Amino acid sequence: MQATRLIDVGDIQTIEIDTPEPREGDIVIKVEAAGICGTDRHLFKGEFPSVPNTTLGHEFSGIVVESGDSEIKKGTRVTCDPNTWCGACNQCRRGKVNLCINNIATGIARDGGFAEYCAFPAHKAHVLPSDLNPLFGAFCEPLACTLHGMDIGNAQAGERVIVIGGGVIGLMAVQIARAAGAEVMLLTRNPSKQDLGRSLGATHTSSSPEQALEHWPQGADLVVECAGVKATVEMAPALTRTGGRIVVLGVLPQGTKVSIEPFDLLFREIQMHYSFLNPFTHERASQMIANGMIEVEPLISREISIADIAEVVSNDAPDGEVRAIAVT
Ligand code: NAP
Repeated sequence: MQATRLIDVGDIQTIEIDTPEPREGDIVIKVEAAGICGTDRHLFKGEFPSVPNTTLGHEFSGIVVESGDSEIKKGTRVTCDPNTWCGACNQCRRGKVNLCINNIATGIARDGGFAEYCAFPAHKAHVLPSDLNPLFGAFCEPLACTLHGMDIGNAQAGERVIVIGGGVIGLMAVQIARAAGAEVMLLTRNPSKQDLGRSLGATHTSSSPEQALEHWPQGADLVVECAGVKATVEMAPALTRTGGRIVVLGVLPQGTKVSIEPFDLLFREIQMHYSFLNPFTHERASQMIANGMIEVEPLISREISIADIAEVVSNDAPDGEVRAIAVT
């Protein structure tokens, strides 16, 4: 079968490999859709730890073709929570499973969904409706991560929320904050992403922090950083009202330092939080996508084939692109 593998940092190739053999506890999935995520580009550039010779793809869904010992029947459509916690380490035992020191991330540390077939731990598969658009399942993983960040941010009805970054994560954060009854401003530079943000529920849009503060001079109760760049993390405190909260979802390259003024955060008692992965949120994410609570169709910018993945991952996303989805 064809699979797109990170041979090493800076070297990604689509090659022919054997169809995977399931290990104990695995099912085998015929992949239907896999999203190309910013993290895949970080992995390619060596900005996020990776394991050489691994098939990438951690946002994917498909049809079960071998069910092994599991109760999931062949032919079932499933979405894959890529993070397999050990359950035994100190962090897992404290309930902090997303911080598990032995986490095995499918598509990063074991072969993932940029392939025709994937052997996958049955207990991390979540069933999707058989009549769901097959491409939608690829959005459950980013939604699960966004839900964790929004749980931490805890937007309340009537609050003001600024979401920085108009990628998949930001556009899902906009929808979750709207569903909570908040006023939501999407801050992103690209006009087409601002339009998309408004169509998905943003009440305001802006392209810079200055423009955001023209609308809301006191800032927002909650600022959600979903861009993953130094400038956007650094702008977050100034966009937060006194007594407000910041949640950083964006991943900055390892080693990047940002400039933050602790006196300002202290004197205005601003809480700055970080959100990592998707602890116990994948089930909710799959339900919200299955029942249409979160719109994902407008987030699909283009469909590509497995043969295109290496080129797409090794280049920046074209201007205005939200998500490229590999269809197998
Ligand atoms: P993405 O598609 O790259 O979106 C990032 C957006 O940020 C872009 O659309 C870009 O839009 C915007 N942006 C960049 N610089 C900006 C600036 N100076 N001002 C305003 N907006 C700016 O990425 P994504 O897939 O949505 O993911 C977002 C971040 O979350 C990434 O860093 C990703 O690695 C991370 N992530 C974190 C988790 C977690 O568990 N914490 C999980 C998944 C992903 P414009 O060009 O329009 O401004």
